[in-house]
Amino acid sequence: MNENLYARMRSVFDQHGSRDALRLPGGGGWSYEVLDAAAGRAAAVLRGYGVRPGDRVLAQVDKHPESLALYLGCLQSGAVYVPLNTAYTHAEVAYFIEDAQPRLFVHREGDSLGDVSCVCASIGAGATGSFSTAMSRSGPSRDVAQRGAEDLAAIVYTSGTTGRSKGAMLSHGNLSSNADSLREAWGWRDDDVLLHALPIFHVHGLFIALHCALLGGTPIVFLERFDAREVLAHLPEITVMMGVPTFYTRLLALAELDAEQVRGVRVIISGSAPLTEQTFGEFEHRTGQRILERYGMSETIINTTNPLVGERVAGSVGFALPGVEMRITDEAGSELPCGEVGAIEVRGENVFSGYWRNPEKTAEDIRANGFFITGDLGMMDRQGRLRIVGRAKDLVISGGYNIYPKEVEACIDEMAGLVESAVIGIPHPDFGEGVVALVVGDNRMIEEQQVLDYLSDRLARFKQPKRVINVAQLPRNAMGKVQKNELRQQYSGLFED
Ligand code: AMP
Repeated sequence: MNENLYARMRSVFDQHGSRDALRLPGGGGWSYEVLDAAAGRAAAVLRGYGVRPGDRVLAQVDKHPESLALYLGCLQSGAVYVPLNTAYTHAEVAYFIEDAQPRLFVHREGDSLGDVSCVCASIGAGATGSFSTAMSRSGPSRDVAQRGAEDLAAIVYTSGTTGRSKGAMLSHGNLSSNADSLREAWGWRDDDVLLHALPIFHVHGLFIALHCALLGGTPIVFLERFDAREVLAHLPEITVMMGVPTFYTRLLALAELDAEQVRGVRVIISGSAPLTEQTFGEFEHRTGQRILERYGMSETIINTTNPLVGERVAGSVGFALPGVEMRITDEAGSELPCGEVGAIEVRGENVFSGYWRNPEKTAEDIRANGFFITGDLGMMDRQGRLRIVGRAKDLVISGGYNIYPKEVEACIDEMAGLVESAVIGIPHPDFGEGVVALVVGDNRMIEEQQVLDYLSDRLARFKQPKRVINVAQLPRNAMGKVQKNELRQQYSGLFED
C-alpha cells in the first residue's frame, strides 16, 4: 500500500474534481481538478530538476496557489518539503541551505540571493518565475511516489535557544494520522468552507488548516495574509476559521464584528500561542461564538484540543487527541499527579521522529519510551484537561511567531559600544507579547534607534524588538544567571494603553 499522503489526497481530488479547492479574493479560484493538475506539473518539474524521493526541497515562497502546488508536488514526488519563514534574511537562509542540503531551493521571484550554494528556481505571483514557467510548460505527472508511513514528508525548522534552528522531521504517517484525528475531533463536514489567512510556512497554516480541507475535498477561502477587514468581509461565506490569537484581538478591534457576521460559522479555532481569557470572553460576548483553543507545535503538529461538543474552557487547551498520550512529569521524569505543574510530554503517531542531523538533541528530547519532552510546562485536571502555565525556556511568542531571546541577544551583543543585553517578552495588546531588549552600554547611552537600525538587516522583522531600553546593569542571581522574571515584572506594563 502506498502511504504517501498525496495518494490519499489524490483519491479525494479525483472524487471531487469539479468542486472549488481555492477561492481567491476578488473572485476566481482553482477547482480540485486544477489543483491536482498543478501539483502534478510541479512534481514533473521537480523531477526535471533531478529531485528524487527523499531529497529536500527548500522553499521560501509567498502565499499563492502555485506555492501550494509546489508543496503538493513535493509530497507527490516523494521529496521532503522544507518551508522557510518569508521573513528570514539571506544570512539566515544560508544556514538552512547548509543544514538541509536541499537538491533545490525555490524562492520568490525578484529575490536577489547573493551567493547560494545550491540549485535555485523561483516562483512568482501570477505564475512568473522560472519554476512557474517550467510548470506552465510541463504536462501533469500522475505518478505518486511510493512512500511508507515512516518516510519523511517535511522538515520544519524551529528556532533553537542556542540560536541554531533545529529541523523537526515529520513523516507521511505523522501528517496523515494527525489530519485524521483533527477532522474527526472538529467534525469536518462535506459542506465546510475554511477561511485561511495564515502563512503557509508554519505547521498551523500548512498542515493543520490545509490538510483538514484537502482531505475533505472542501473549499478554502485562500487569503494572502490576515487583514481584519478582509477577513470580516469573508466571514458570512465560511463555516470554519483557524487563526492565531492576534487574529481574534484584531477582529474584536473592529466595531462591525457581531453575531450576524458569524451566523453561518460552525467553529472558530485558535492556537500557536495562548488565547487570553479576556479575548475568549470578549469574542463570545460580541459574537456568541466560544473560540475553540487547541495546542500543538512543529514537532508534534496537534496534541490537544478543546471539544467541539462539550465545554470549551477559557485558559485550557483541552484534552489529548485520540491516539495521543500525554503526561506531566517532574524534573526526574516521573509522572506527576493531577493538578501539579510539570513538564508536558506527549507520545503518539503525531510525534516527529527526531531533529534533522541532530541525534544529540533528539536523544535529549525524546525518551527511550517514546515520550517527547515538549519544553512547555502545564497541569492536567482529573478529567484530562490541560492548562499550559508557561514555557520551560524563555521563548517569546509575538503575533503567533516564536522568538528565541538568545538569538536576538547574540545579534545585539555584536554591536559596538554595547556590553550585554537581555531579551524578554512583555504582554502586548495586539501581538500577545512584544519583544523588548534591555541593553547595557559601554559607559554610554545607546540610542534605541541605533539598535533597531543595526538589527534591521540582520534579523527577520518579527524578531526585532518593539522597544529597546538602556539599563545600568542586568539583575543576576548568585549563580550569575540573568533574572528574566524580575525584568518581565518590572516592565510588565510597557505596552499598556
Ligand atoms: P511552534 O513549534 O512554532 O508551533 O511553537 C510551538 C509552541 O507554541 C508550543 O511549544 C507552545 O509553547 C506554544 N503554543 C502553541 N499552541 C499554544 C496554545 N494554545 N497555548 C499556549 N501556547 C501554545
